Amino acid sequence: PKNGFCIANSTFYSKRSPLPLPADTSLDVTTFMSSQPHRGTTAFIDATTGHRISFPDFWRAVARVADCLHHDFSIRRGDVVLILSPNSISIPVVNLAVMSLGAVITTANPLNTAGEISKQITDSKPRVAFTTPELAPKLAAASAADIPVVLTEDDDEDHVGSSRGVRVVGVLSEMMKKEQSRQRVRDRVNRDETAMLLYSSGTTGRSKGVDSSHGNLIAHIARYISEPLEPPNQTFLCTVPMFHTYGLLIYAMATVALGSTVVMLRRFDLHDMFAAIEKYRVRSLVLAPPVLVAMINGSDLIKDKYDLTSLKTVRSGGAPLSKEVTESFLEKYPTVDVFQAYALTESNSAGASTDSVEESQRYGAVGMLSSGVEARIVDPDTGRFLGENQTGELWLKSPAIAKGYIRNEEARNEAITSQGWLKTGDLCYIDDDGFLFIVDRLKELIKYKAYQVPPAELEALLLTHPEIKDVAVIPFPDEEVGQFPMACVVRKTGSFLAEKSIMEFVAKQVAPYKKIRKVEFMSYIPKNPSGKILRKDLIKLVLTSTNSK
Ligand code: AMP
Repeated sequence: PKNGFCIANSTFYSKRSPLPLPADTSLDVTTFMSSQPHRGTTAFIDATTGHRISFPDFWRAVARVADCLHHDFSIRRGDVVLILSPNSISIPVVNLAVMSLGAVITTANPLNTAGEISKQITDSKPRVAFTTPELAPKLAAASAADIPVVLTEDDDEDHVGSSRGVRVVGVLSEMMKKEQSRQRVRDRVNRDETAMLLYSSGTTGRSKGVDSSHGNLIAHIARYISEPLEPPNQTFLCTVPMFHTYGLLIYAMATVALGSTVVMLRRFDLHDMFAAIEKYRVRSLVLAPPVLVAMINGSDLIKDKYDLTSLKTVRSGGAPLSKEVTESFLEKYPTVDVFQAYALTESNSAGASTDSVEESQRYGAVGMLSSGVEARIVDPDTGRFLGENQTGELWLKSPAIAKGYIRNEEARNEAITSQGWLKTGDLCYIDDDGFLFIVDRLKELIKYKAYQVPPAELEALLLTHPEIKDVAVIPFPDEEVGQFPMACVVRKTGSFLAEKSIMEFVAKQVAPYKKIRKVEFMSYIPKNPSGKILRKDLIKLVLTSTNSK
């Protein structure tokens, strides 16, 4: 052991206390969560309506929804259930009800187009979908006309059996109240069984279903039992999307197991967020960097209107947070500590974080390896394992690391070694004190406001344009959003295709966060002999030419 962490056999070990994993191997994650002792009273508060739900009522609602899914819709172990919804209390209820049956939850980004959602439906094959009346037509357009749909919000116009193009079979609020006369024998679920399918493009290619088991999610919960986010009984405010691993794993799972209260905002708005912090005496925000940037850039007139004295911590994750942004935040909010967290959809919260004020003062570091995590730093060119202060690709091992990608052995083998190491695609180093620093991203992924934008998807789309001969999509750095997608385009001979037409062509077919926001015309795309785009060379070329303009 050295400075609180240990390196042996080219492996960095976490200095946190060991993961308190239960011995029972036929345990589902919801049973594990509900058996955690805590002193929490209110589980969720809807900031828009002021509606509160206590822990006993929350778990009762979960059990009733599970009963309905079992009896009325014959949902059984292994069946997939889709939820397409903006943030609301319905997401944690449905999520835990589905997993308690041994069934599998999958979430879709409500901003995605019907075409994008359709691909996910084809891949994940849900048997039932939950959505809002507002999003129902999008689901219908996503070739989901045959999937039975439960509405997560009441709507005067919609009655069971009708409308908006989908087959409505129920309303969540009624399911949450419905007492079943029939008994349900609870299936024992094996720890290796799939519980969750969240979509991520990983290090390459298109979005794929990340296959996370009950055991992976138990390890995720165990991590927060070992390293609680805050002292017991505190209030959080959720600003991150719950369809994404970050929001779902923290605010629909970890905080529930710990007995914390979560205030839900339907949409992010600075005024509404400050008002909710004041009204509910919120202690902590677990957020992505763009919200932190919005808090810095928002005018003092807004901030000074509210009493924010309850706010003690913000935890930033999902995308890089620079030392400069942290410092600007602390200047404006001197009584708030900024913590960082680093993880991936594939790692189910296993990664690194800063967990104390002292650790948080190592600005720019994402923190120490979390409980149960082992890491390697690997030279991307030679495959050699590196030591402290040497930069290479980060590999992670932990019981929380997902099993792979659903029905995609090839992608699994590319991402996870035979010994169970997840290749993160992030270029990192670990310093003498065990702090992890993310230097760059080796993988193709672009992150716009922490949303995943897989370049391969946009490249495939752009190549369908009749005047485009070749294309590469790369990240372009931006202070406010982190990065945005930029297209490097080779036009066909004789074409005068304009930047604006290219941007419009893409914008019509993708979710707003995937839009191409910059185009550069080139005579060729640099590639290696086997035809792989040399992205790093291209990024360097583009940035140098932009800086010299
Ligand atoms: P996702 O699967 O959408 O959560 O994306 C995971 C990726 O986001 C990581 O592999 C990193 O590239 C990036 N990321 C997540 N958290 C951080 C962080 N704290 N600092 C820098 N990059 C991050």
